[in-house]
Amino acid sequence: MAEDCLFCRIIRQEIPAKLVFEDEHCVAFRDINPQAPVHVLVVPRDHVPSLNQAHNPAMLGHLQLAAAEIAKREGIAEPGYRTVINTNRGAGQTVFHIHLHLLGGRDLGWPPG
Ligand code: AMP
Ligand code: ZN
Repeated sequence: MAEDCLFCRIIRQEIPAKLVFEDEHCVAFRDINPQAPVHVLVVPRDHVPSLNQAHNPAMLGHLQLAAAEIAKREGIAEPGYRTVINTNRGAGQTVFHIHLHLLGGRDLGWPPG
């Protein structure tokens, strides 16, 4: 846990969020500025700043499988969805608590911007 981290504060319920899923390892909530009809952030309970500091394969796999489960619940598993981790500023990371974006509910262009 990091005292001033936005996502740690959401996990501690100090800041409200629209939770869609949680278990012992992660919390998932709707992005405040959604880029698609379904835009959920899947966040580990452990504070890891970015993928560059991650070393736990089970934690990373857990985020992906949680996203797949949420995609099924949200009805986007069959049409399709995207999971993305932005790493550092050049990729658009703005919150330095690792998180996986789950995006779906519309056609998603490729390559991404
Ligand atoms: P990134 O730019 O990859 O670091 O993603 C951070 C995401 O967090 C952005 O998509 C923001 O819209 C989202 N975000 C920022 N503040 C909040 C908040 N209080 N609740 C939910 N999502 C947030
Ligand atoms: Zn944090």
